[in-house]
Amino acid sequence: MIRFACDKCGASLGANDSGRFIIKIEAYAASGPLVFSSEDIEQDRSHELSSLIEELSTANPDDIEDQTYRNLRFDLCGPCHKKFLIQPLG
Ligand SMILES: [Zn+2]
Repeated sequence: MIRFACDKCGASLGANDSGRFIIKIEAYAASGPLVFSSEDIEQDRSHELSSLIEELSTANPDDIEDQTYRNLRFDLCGPCHKKFLIQPLG
């Protein structure tokens, strides 16, 4: 039998326990539509692209992901779930 633990208080939870709540959170950068002028398109951006590629090749993948998208999942017991709903951001 698969056992879980509440990610907040550590209480033991069963896989099919009706007192186990799953919290899924997505965090991603808000952005509007990309707008390019004809001048933007006509400019030579090869130097900027090379710099960006070099920067990304040495960057920590977790840091890059943190700046773009992160998917989080938590198991909570009933009491911790109740507290989460009252104040989701702690
Ligand atoms: Zn708990």
